[in-house]
Amino acid sequence: MATIKLEIVSPTKVVYTTDVNMLIVRSTGGELGILPHHAPLITGLIPHAMRAKTDAGEQLIAVSGGFMEVQPDKITILASAAELPINIDINRAQKAYARAQERLEAFKTSAEKSKDIDSIRAQAAFDRAKARLKATKADIER
Ligand code: ATP
Repeated sequence: MATIKLEIVSPTKVVYTTDVNMLIVRSTGGELGILPHHAPLITGLIPHAMRAKTDAGEQLIAVSGGFMEVQPDKITILASAAELPINIDINRAQKAYARAQERLEAFKTSAEKSKDIDSIRAQAAFDRAKARLKATKADIER
């Protein structure tokens, strides 16, 4: 099967590099499936569990946001943070998820002036934690 090179880079390291048959990502413009020989593209990514389909099966990778550049023979992901399931601390992600959920609930009833910006931050933390739990398949809903 045809493949395309995938490289996922975080600020501190190369997180994952392999040849994939297809990469499914959630971009700022919606879900995208990238196949070999895809037209050149640059897009933003939102927090989610990316799905890399390889000859060996499907690999999930949590991404906290960033950018994706696609060239016909290579996909480069520049992620603010990215983790393979094996490197995800599920306990930490569950705590982050619960913390963010509590904050979001509190903001619903709060009249504080700072609530808009804080609730955006809480939502982002919630989305990052959810992406990590999805990547480990430890989330509740899929
Ligand atoms: P937390 O509130 O638990 O710190 P966070 O979403 O605020 O989570 P980030 O700012 O996205 O964390 O990431 C900071 C660093 O910690 C990154 O290097 C990221 O890969 C790592 N990281 C965050 N959460 C986890 C986790 N559950 N397991 C493994 N690494 C994690």
